[in-house]
Amino acid sequence: MRSFVPNESFSEVSGVPVAQALRPVLVNGGGGFLGSHLCERLLQRGHRVICLDNFSTGRRANVDHLASNTRFHIVEHDVRQPFDIDASLIFNFASPASPPDYQRDPVGTLLTNVLGAVNTLDCARKTGAIVVQSSTSEVYGDPIHSPQHESYCGNVNQIGPRGCYDEGKRSAETLFFDYHRTYGIDIKVGRIFNTYGPRMRLDDGRVVSNFIVQALRNADLTIYGDGQQTRSFCYVDDLIEGFLRFSAAGSACNGPINLGNPTEMTVRRLAEIIRDLTNSRSRIVHLPAVTDDPRQRRPDISRAMAELGWQPLIGLETGLARTVDYFDGLLAGTEKAEVV
Ligand code: NAD
Ligand code: UDP
Repeated sequence: MRSFVPNESFSEVSGVPVAQALRPVLVNGGGGFLGSHLCERLLQRGHRVICLDNFSTGRRANVDHLASNTRFHIVEHDVRQPFDIDASLIFNFASPASPPDYQRDPVGTLLTNVLGAVNTLDCARKTGAIVVQSSTSEVYGDPIHSPQHESYCGNVNQIGPRGCYDEGKRSAETLFFDYHRTYGIDIKVGRIFNTYGPRMRLDDGRVVSNFIVQALRNADLTIYGDGQQTRSFCYVDDLIEGFLRFSAAGSACNGPINLGNPTEMTVRRLAEIIRDLTNSRSRIVHLPAVTDDPRQRRPDISRAMAELGWQPLIGLETGLARTVDYFDGLLAGTEKAEVV
């Protein structure tokens, strides 16, 4: 059992209630793309933050800029092993998220989601923490209803290559609601739809990072299949704002709640927008479709609007421009380093 008790003085924490200042917020997966933005926003709000991560798909570089903050701590740990950390609030974001990442070690992915949920909920059971789960639109699988409302139970192929992730997240949702009903744990389950922004890895394999990096290198933009499949892309700052509101909502607000941007488009259209935005000379090419790729995905966010007063505010062009700037900087660094 891994225990962690931060030992610094709490006197530097100002502007937040003492009880809250004394008990940190734990972010499992805080070294990842979304988790690092969440850690940053929590610190900005005056919280003490513990980032727990095994850095399998995340990177220390994502949180390097936070390391000098005395209210920030990193605990290197795998959520598949039990842990005991006294926090008032836990965000469970620890899981590979990109299809190439989660399919690389499918058994590990499933266990990370199932055992990670159990260990996180057991930790909360001891401390009385509120626990927020990062679930996913993948619980809807290849949906036959669109937009997807939270009441839709989904269409998942449990024995296909995406099953390790989809069923891991679905089982985690079951565990969250069973712990809530059985032990009275204060839970919140948010279903994230495709989210993008700075700090995605160059080689993460998701469509936004792939297309931007390919466009900046004037390499072929690789569409898998006919490009008519749809997604709805949310900028990271909007998503994190949704999670912060959710975490602060009353204990009756458990979800599941869809968090995403309802503006839907084809993958083909996304490729064209990114090529235009980067003034790239890239060609758009088609590669074989991937197995069980959902044909359409669009969140119904009426519940988030009603219960959290939340909706995305950052349009695709603005969000993509910020993300292009980020990758431009990253490529200038890496490609310069490769030349040297
Ligand atoms: P990411 O891969 O950048 O971040 C995941 C983090 O979890 C990484 O830092 C990784 O090292 C850590 N991690 C993985 N397995 C772990 C383990 N066993 N123990 C401890 N840490 C572990 O991905 P992301 O996009 O930031 O996703 C974060 C969460 O949000 C994930 O749970 C993912 O399923 C969920 N989500 C993301 C999206 C999206 O579009 N970004 C969509 C749906 C759901
Ligand atoms: N995709 C693509 N080219 C790429 C990467 C992804 O055409 O280089 C497609 C992928 O097949 C899917 C969509 O883009 O239809 C979104 O893929 P991503 O991996 O970003 O997320 P997910 O499939 O989990 O929604």
